[in-house]
Amino acid sequence: MSEPRMIPSDILWQKDGHLSDVALDALADGQDALVPLCVREHANECEPCAIRLGDAFLLSAQAQTLLQQQSYRQIPWPLSLPSLLTVLVLALLGALPSLGGFVAKAQNLAHTLSAVVPNLTRALVVLSRSEDMAHFIALVFLIAIVVLLAGAATIVRSLPRQTASYGETR
Ligand SMILES: [Zn+2]
Repeated sequence: MSEPRMIPSDILWQKDGHLSDVALDALADGQDALVPLCVREHANECEPCAIRLGDAFLLSAQAQTLLQQQSYRQIPWPLSLPSLLTVLVLALLGALPSLGGFVAKAQNLAHTLSAVVPNLTRALVVLSRSEDMAHFIALVFLIAIVVLLAGAATIVRSLPRQTASYGETR
């Protein structure tokens, strides 16, 4: 790593031979590497400069505290909890009509399953008990049921919502 550049010495000193504010600020901010050794030695040996350095330390600490308070200040939530709950309730009320359609579809599905499942069960029973020809017939029956179910599901999904709910046909 390269050495940090030094502050030019002509701005580190005042005309009266004491340290400039630039030099004191650099020391107060802990940037000792930016000033030459003679500046640090002067700050330790000269009482007026040591007093000014103490003031600069205090100022730097206050500035850091203010900056931390600014960065930690919380951004207020744009919505209050009651208004958020109100919006949620309104959204739920708005979703109620479609919820009824969902219930109707679920009832249709349950009705379809109650009609199909016994037939599937019978086909499985036949498959497990019969001879080769009966195996074949039961297998065809089973495949037909599966194809019919898949076709019905495809048709129901492709229909518009109202047509599916009220059974209107054109
Ligand atoms: Zn001095």
